[in-house]
Amino acid sequence: MKDKEIDEKRMKMALEEAEWADREGEVPVGAVLVKGDRILAKDHNRCITLSDPTAHAEILVLRRAGQVLGNYRLNDTVMYVTAEPCPMCASAMIHSRISRLVFGAPEPKFGAVESNLELFKENGFNHRIEVDQGVLERECAETLRDFFKKRRLLSRENGDKIVSKCLTK
Ligand SMILES: [Zn+2]
Repeated sequence: MKDKEIDEKRMKMALEEAEWADREGEVPVGAVLVKGDRILAKDHNRCITLSDPTAHAEILVLRRAGQVLGNYRLNDTVMYVTAEPCPMCASAMIHSRISRLVFGAPEPKFGAVESNLELFKENGFNHRIEVDQGVLERECAETLRDFFKKRRLLSRENGDKIVSKCLTK
């Protein structure tokens, strides 16, 4: 399999996680962490479910991978995530020493890799992460767009209180 096909296959896995988040009423972002051929962890946003503001897909995946490897350094791993990481997650990736980040859709508001901030380019950090973006970008962006569209519609029709109920189904 070619590198591009491998990236797309893994991004599809991250997209499946994002769909789980959507069903649970969470912002639909999914992440997968890989070392060589081995999937170390995959997960999706769970902030509401876990009552944890830090439970972004990337953070959950980094924590799980640390347990799997028995190491707080996640050298030579690749993170696949459907949306551009926020500042918290981008910083966590630097701390964890992942080698490469592949993301799908840019995040104009909170993206900390190329959109709003460029954290990986800060000189203070002594770890460099290779970045590839735009893998299955259309699908990744649509997942997010549909979610927020649905949420806006619901909030217009029913008022804010009912929204969370509907989204959790
Ligand atoms: Zn994040």
